Formats: sequence, C-alpha cells, structure tokens
Amino acid sequence: MARVHACLECGEGTSRDGEFCSDKCRSDWNNRRKQRGAELYDLYMAHRFDRATAKDLRVFQAINRMASNFRQEDRSERAGRQSWRRPSAVLDERPYLRSVTTRVRMGRMGG
Ligand SMILES: [Zn+2]
Repeated sequence: MARVHACLECGEGTSRDGEFCSDKCRSDWNNRRKQRGAELYDLYMAHRFDRATAKDLRVFQAINRMASNFRQEDRSERAGRQSWRRPSAVLDERPYLRSVTTRVRMGRMGG
C-alpha cells in the first residue's frame, strides 16, 4: 500500500515538503528528469516542427521507444516507482499552457 507522503524518489522516506525526504532525493529525481528530457527534446521538437523529416525517420516511434526504455529502467532500478509527476501538478504550475489550449480549442470550434 502506497504511503500518502512517501518520497517520490526513494519511496521510503517521509517527505518533508510533500515530495522528497532529502536534498539528495530531490537532486536524484531532478537530475534523471534533466537527462531524460534532454534526450527527448530534439526528437520531440523535430516531431512537432519538422514533420516531414520526422515522419521519414520515424521519430515519434523512436520517442515512444525511448519512453518505454525509461519505464523499463524505472521497473528495474526504482522498483517500478513512477518517475514523473502527475500531469495535473505540472499544468497547475503552468496555467499559461491551459489558456493556450482553451484558446486553440475555441478557435477550432468557432471556425
Ligand atoms: Zn527519498
């Protein structure tokens, strides 16, 4: 049974701040996300903004394969603990992303 306030990184310590039990766990969590994010960045940007090339090179499939590899690492090295924040938590920190989504959706509906 998952503890409500378990550390996101180690899953054992009790979080002091709602997420992590120590500075080391916070650092380990963020460093892994930085490394994985950097690996994904160029491929995702090509997928989004250079679609012809990305399609030829099957970039989106590569992105999905990379995510599956990350998940496999989580299973083997983190006892399966999730290594990403809830999307609602990420979006709550970035309200400007929700307003853009709403504007685009309204634009399409209005057209
Ligand atoms: Zn911890």
